[in-house]
Amino acid sequence: MRSIYHIAIALTFLLSACQDNMLKDSKPRSSQISIEIEPLSGEKWSVKIQSPEPVEALGFLRNTGSHRPEQWAFSNEDLDLKRRNNVDVIYSKSGKKIQSVEALVSPFRGPISKEYLLFGAFSNGAERVYMGQFRVHPTDLDGTFEPSERISEIQVTPGHFKTIFADGKWRDKRYTMTGTTDETDTYAVFGNVPVSEFSGGSLIVDPGLPDELRSKITDVMTLSAAYFNAKLGAADGPNRLTLISFMPDEQMQGTSIEGGVLSNQIHFHLTGSGWDKADGTLGLELAWVAAHEVAHVWNAFGAAKPDYFTIRPEDESSDIMDAQWLHEGGADMLTYKAVLKNDLATPEFLNQKTSGFYRQCGAALGRGPLNLAAKEGRFRDYYDCGFVIGLLTDLACRPDELDYIDIWKSMISSSQDGLYGQDLYLESLGQCSGGMKARDTINEMTLGLVEQPELFLQKAFAEQGVAVTIAADNIEFDPPI
Ligand SMILES: [Zn+2]
Repeated sequence: MRSIYHIAIALTFLLSACQDNMLKDSKPRSSQISIEIEPLSGEKWSVKIQSPEPVEALGFLRNTGSHRPEQWAFSNEDLDLKRRNNVDVIYSKSGKKIQSVEALVSPFRGPISKEYLLFGAFSNGAERVYMGQFRVHPTDLDGTFEPSERISEIQVTPGHFKTIFADGKWRDKRYTMTGTTDETDTYAVFGNVPVSEFSGGSLIVDPGLPDELRSKITDVMTLSAAYFNAKLGAADGPNRLTLISFMPDEQMQGTSIEGGVLSNQIHFHLTGSGWDKADGTLGLELAWVAAHEVAHVWNAFGAAKPDYFTIRPEDESSDIMDAQWLHEGGADMLTYKAVLKNDLATPEFLNQKTSGFYRQCGAALGRGPLNLAAKEGRFRDYYDCGFVIGLLTDLACRPDELDYIDIWKSMISSSQDGLYGQDLYLESLGQCSGGMKARDTINEMTLGLVEQPELFLQKAFAEQGVAVTIAADNIEFDPPI
């Protein structure tokens, strides 16, 4: 596999369960900036922005990237777009205030580092479009803005696609998306792609995906969702829509599976070559990624609250608080349990996974405290060591007939305010026989500098009664984990 590239997104809101259609279908509130998106052709999309009053400039607060100046053409030649302090700012070259903007946009389908796919083509010509790329705030010419200022409201029109799937329904005329902040956002699917339902969500799979893969993904998502539902209870949040687009590229070496989660959507983009031989490890890998994303439907529900995975959210000054291993490694640990329970992987594949996480975690600990991973641009470390922490949790609780999922549930139920993090996790771990030792290990991994990572991990497992033997191509755990 060439790359598995995962985008994790800190979420700051959930859509209101009570969606007010009266508001959506009426005119924008006067304080809102209205944005209208209409595809005119496959290569030209019309974007109209209207501010309720003249403003100095309008800024895109996320999705800044080289795609925007190249792809945006304004009908008013006095307008231009420049990058200022990491914000793309629309401004008047002659210094006038601006109130309305009309632009033609060419879909940008290239990857954007640590960001969303802005446009994702389905093989039948449909497009999923990330709405957040269009949201703007009033700013000054330097891109400075007041965070509490107006929220932009996005209207989508089907144009030549005839239909749009947005907010869980098909629309055949202009429709206003329900996103309520500029922090996170949703996709709309332009054009016709079949939608199917599974427990807790719906699924849109590219019609071009080979039947075998399509049914595999559907099975994995259905079985994993049912498993998490049974073990963790109903997911707290809106139904998730899963979007899977498939663009095979025989020029590309190997396959690529990109996956990501927004508050109410999961998405995958499958590309590369070799999909006709997608049995064996590739099929198992795809199943793993699908179950991982479904796990986030459950383990990210605290994501409705800002800073949910930090240790002490009130302490903004400390970078060491960034315990995202709970989120990513936790999702992988839930995945491990779901695929094991539902026979979705071979023992060899699971051993290969576990060995990989263990080995990579050793390397990660050599780079520094785990909780600095995001700050230091080594986000992958959260997956590897988060999974190892999950294994240690299982082992610490094994004598008490408890496991990782019990600790997760206990952590959530002990939260006073919906926030959870490392402190609560370690507190919950205290109920297990091996909990004290595991807590010391986790504190050292996350907050300390581990001198000899390989020995450190072997010792930590030995303390939980498991001998680890590291061989060239795999790792043996005795007794098996
Ligand atoms: Zn994830």
